[in-house]
Amino acid sequence: MPLITPNIDECAARLRAGHLVAMPTETVYGLAADARQDVAIQKVFALKGRPSSNPLIVHLQRAEQVVEWAAEVPTAAQRLMHACWPGPLTLVLPARDEVSRSVTAGQDSVALRVPAHPQAQALLTAFGGGLVAPSANRYMSISPTSAAHVAQQFADSDLWILDGGACQVGLESSIVSLLPGDSPRLLRRGMLSQGQLEAVLGEPLEGKDGGVRAPGQHHRHYAPSTMTLAFAQAPAEALASPRCGWLWCGQAQPSQGPALNLGNEPQAYAAGLYAALYQLDALGLERLYIQLPPQQDAWAAVHDRLARASQRI
Ligand code: AMP
Ligand code: MG
Repeated sequence: MPLITPNIDECAARLRAGHLVAMPTETVYGLAADARQDVAIQKVFALKGRPSSNPLIVHLQRAEQVVEWAAEVPTAAQRLMHACWPGPLTLVLPARDEVSRSVTAGQDSVALRVPAHPQAQALLTAFGGGLVAPSANRYMSISPTSAAHVAQQFADSDLWILDGGACQVGLESSIVSLLPGDSPRLLRRGMLSQGQLEAVLGEPLEGKDGGVRAPGQHHRHYAPSTMTLAFAQAPAEALASPRCGWLWCGQAQPSQGPALNLGNEPQAYAAGLYAALYQLDALGLERLYIQLPPQQDAWAAVHDRLARASQRI
């Protein structure tokens, strides 16, 4: 059985001893391990069931530690670090030789982030080094945004989970790659939008197709086990069925089946999305229907995750 604990120092001691600890961050809960211990890193891949071709993000307590991991820190990276850290932004930079290739999935680049969550900050301070922390869920399932979600994902393990309440951002970080000889690229959308990042950079961000390999961006990801359909127009026969569940974004229509409404404000919607999916998925429904939000930059990360969790109808 997992143990949900508030004890930072004991969690840091377990990490030093090569154990895993689930750590709250402002994006989602991460499955943390010492990024300098290969044996501990292997435990992350094994517990998640994640392929080793999928690289991990190294979490640091402060921006000054970046030089311990990155061989180069270009001006564009310094701008983003200054404006967005601590926060939900990951930077992909050239890796120093001593960074384990288990972390980078064999690549010469490393992904780095300084999380803002107070418990993540406290744990990183007590631990002292870098922590890999991919989302604390089994491969391909919904990312956890509470300690209870993590416990549910790893019910048969003795994982320690540092309790940090509900995640405030709720979606995985935006990932920007800044590698020599390539344009700045947005590898993954997050709640720091493309427009916000471009305003800091002073130049446009290209898409992920091109020079950089960004493994682990599977089309099906973050998915409930219930068949999930995204709609602009709700099908009348589904509204009449008690076996269909609903996730609304603003104006809800009356339905026979259970319904949640996350509202039409993108930050609050993102913060509640995964918890809503966990809740509806647990009901054993036949189908889950998700109302599509507006097509706007502020909703782009939500659209990305909905596209991975559902089929468009
Ligand atoms: P997460 O699943 O939230 O831990 O995020 C890990 C994702 O970050 C991976 O699936 C990649 O898409 C991206 N990533 C991590 N490290 C690198 C890297 N060195 N180069 C390119 N993308 C990376
Ligand atoms: Mg993940």
